[in-house]
Formats: sequence, structure tokens, C-alpha cells
Amino acid sequence: MAYNGFGTLDRREFLAKAGSAGAALALTLGMTDPVPAQGQSASTISLPPLPYAQDALAPAISGNTMSFHYGKHHQAYVNNTVKMVTGTELEKATLEEIIKKTAGRADQASLFNNAAQVFNHTFYWHSMKPGGGGEPNGKIAQKISESFGSYQKFVEAFSGAAASQFGSGWAWLVQDGGRLQVVKTSNAETPITTSAKPLITIDVWEHAYYLDYMNRRADYIKAFIEKLLNWDFAEKNLL
Ligand code: FE
Repeated sequence: MAYNGFGTLDRREFLAKAGSAGAALALTLGMTDPVPAQGQSASTISLPPLPYAQDALAPAISGNTMSFHYGKHHQAYVNNTVKMVTGTELEKATLEEIIKKTAGRADQASLFNNAAQVFNHTFYWHSMKPGGGGEPNGKIAQKISESFGSYQKFVEAFSGAAASQFGSGWAWLVQDGGRLQVVKTSNAETPITTSAKPLITIDVWEHAYYLDYMNRRADYIKAFIEKLLNWDFAEKNLL
């Protein structure tokens, strides 16, 4: 199977695998021309499965937050992206191609925002895991101490960026020119349009934490760093 960056099947592969079963069902139902699940779009963009159960991050992030954040917000970004590329030259483009081709174009801002949010959210789910957080080991730990001086200095930089992002946005641990850095982005902006390679991200839009933490963004950031941060994912993303 082709790897789409997150260890999941993309929609085209899913439909290919589901194809024979779908055809059999269509025959059973007396249908000769089954309609594709997402209308007539040839887009391969779809909502990837979560890498864990919806309530697996509780109590740091509740199943209720996840059901809205993944099931409503992330799904809406996917639906909007598919709708906007259908019938255009980007209909068959990958998510990264759509993001890179629309970045910085005022006439494509809506498509960029939705497509980048699809990417950012998928990256965020993988940036967390049940039982994650705390100090890393191995290669990523070495990179953290080379780049920041110590794990504690990294925590200060990452939580500082996440807490000080004004309004909606993201904080990221990225690799750029061999060194690790912390950056923050507004709204849907994403480091994949720059030379930096993302390793980890935290969503600091209010929808990410308000149901569980109300206005206490700092407590959500602390829980992310201490209980959820997926260092295995960060290490896999190292160049
Ligand atoms: Fe979000």
C-alpha cells in the first residue's frame, strides 16, 4: 500500500480495496451503476482514521472534545476541500500539492485554509498518543538537547509559543537546516509551505481545549507536553 505520510490508506486505495464488496452489494440491491461514496468527485482527500480510540486521550483531552474536533471540525475541512477542488485542475491533486499550489494566493485563500487545516489536524492527532509526554529518549532526545540546551528549555520554548499565539493557530516543533526549532503559525498556516519540516504540533484554536479547559489554555498545553506528546512520531519525522 502507498504511504500517505500518516500510515493510513488514502481514499483511492480504500475504494480499490472496498471495490469488489461494493460491486457485490450493488448487484444484491439491483443497482448496476453504484454512486461513489463522496458523490462524483475524483478527489482522494478523505478524513483519515484517528490513530487511537476517540476517548483514548482522556482525561487530558476528553472523548467529547475529540468527537467535535475530529468528527465535526476536521470532517468539515475535508468536505470543504473536496467540494472546492471538484471540477477544477486540482481535483486529483494530493493534499500537499493543493496546499503548496494555493499558499499565498488571495484568490485561493478559502481552499488553502481548508486543505491546510486537513493536513494540520491529521498531523496533530499523530502528535499525541495515550501515555505519551515527558522526556524523550534516543535520537530525538539528543536533537532536543543539541538544539535547545536541555529538555526543560524545549518545554519553555514550546509552551511559550503555544501560549503566546494570539488568537487561533498552532505551535510546532520543526527541523530546519539540521536544527530543531519552535515556531508558531496563525489560523491555517502550516510549516509545509516553508523549508522547515514539522515534527510535532499542538492545536491552540479554542475548539481544541475549550470544552475541557475553558479559557485555561496553559493547562491544556501542560497536559499535552506531560501526558500526550508522541515522541515516536517526532523521531520518525526527523530528516
Ligand atoms: Fe482544530
